[in-house]
Amino acid sequence: MNLTVLKGIKECLTLSGARANRGVKPTKEDLGIIENAAVVFDEKIRWVGQERELPKEFSNEMQIDLKGAVVLPGLIDCHTHIVFAGDRSHEYAMRAERKSYRDIADAGGGILSTVKATREATFDELFSLSRTRVLESMSRGITTLEIKSGYGLTVDDEIKILKVIKKLKEELPLTIIPTFLGAHAIPPEFKNNREKYIQILCENLIPQVAKEKLATFCDIFIEKNYFTPDEGKQILEIAVRHGLKIKIHAEQLSNFGGASLAAKMGAISADHLEHLSDTDLASLKKSGVIGVLLPGAAFFLGTAYPPARKFIDHGLPIALSTDWNPGTCMTGNLMLISTIACSQMKMTVPEVITAITFNAAQALSLTNHGFLEQGTRADLAIFGSPSYECLPYHFSVNQISSVFIAGKMIRRENTWETS
Ligand SMILES: [Zn+2]
Repeated sequence: MNLTVLKGIKECLTLSGARANRGVKPTKEDLGIIENAAVVFDEKIRWVGQERELPKEFSNEMQIDLKGAVVLPGLIDCHTHIVFAGDRSHEYAMRAERKSYRDIADAGGGILSTVKATREATFDELFSLSRTRVLESMSRGITTLEIKSGYGLTVDDEIKILKVIKKLKEELPLTIIPTFLGAHAIPPEFKNNREKYIQILCENLIPQVAKEKLATFCDIFIEKNYFTPDEGKQILEIAVRHGLKIKIHAEQLSNFGGASLAAKMGAISADHLEHLSDTDLASLKKSGVIGVLLPGAAFFLGTAYPPARKFIDHGLPIALSTDWNPGTCMTGNLMLISTIACSQMKMTVPEVITAITFNAAQALSLTNHGFLEQGTRADLAIFGSPSYECLPYHFSVNQISSVFIAGKMIRRENTWETS
């Protein structure tokens, strides 16, 4: 692959300081901002620095003048559930009318409505729906995306979803990290026999997922009426034995033991944390677990936000993600999530930028993503904005002018055809 030289960069955010500090308490200095920068790359970054110091050996390579753009490492959405079918807009309308969970369930809403629609969808239908969502993420500068299963809840349907993710990974250029979330909920047919479903997870699903290499992570929803910490331990121990890394949906609706399980079992991340206790906070930090916050869900549902300020001040590395899913956060707009994090959780701009780049990479165990340095993957999000501070400021405008993935330019379609 030929080298490309990007010039005319007003601000290049390398995240070098965030990397040095492992994403703890990010400051403006940690963004590693190089002003009037140039970047040279093929699949990987070959050189990054001030344009006036660009080595002469690169002067004959292809040059692109960005005319004052802001360059970030490609953005990372580290927690999504985008492989699903069906529509739950009516359920949201019912919520807006203050209808109860029971009313919504009686009207056929809730997670099980997505399970039903996803089971009924063919592989091709699911692939097409999900592909559209991934393309939307890419158009917003996302170059790495984690995608969970969890709306199948049978052996065949969970495998179908993971194979959709596998095909997305094969056909699209971005980095896709697949996560097995068979323990998302107890399926309706096992309502009175949850032990049997857990047995299927442990004896059939996890071994098959691991054997076919369909997932990097195993995730579980630890919550009242979902899975208990004891069941979580049983399931996750099998997952670890089969070579899967662990994530946990923890303390979203109540303090239920998911975070302490994450700390004990060496999970890579504990996600949600709305109801995290101080003891749990200390043990997550001690165990090196990354906290993934999903404030879009609280925004969408009108519930309380996780106390991000406390977590960051305590030294827990925080990632932010969309949680894109049909029930609790119907968006893939990571920049909107950043604005919500600033306004509702009092995070600073350097903290949110670190949370959607370097710390999101840490939440996925990726060591070559989320910062820009010689040798890292050439994933670049180019913003046509005068400063990085514009990113959460213009919260509804897609400021991406172009995206490079492993050095290859992917342009977003930002022109309207008019006649
Ligand atoms: Zn989730």
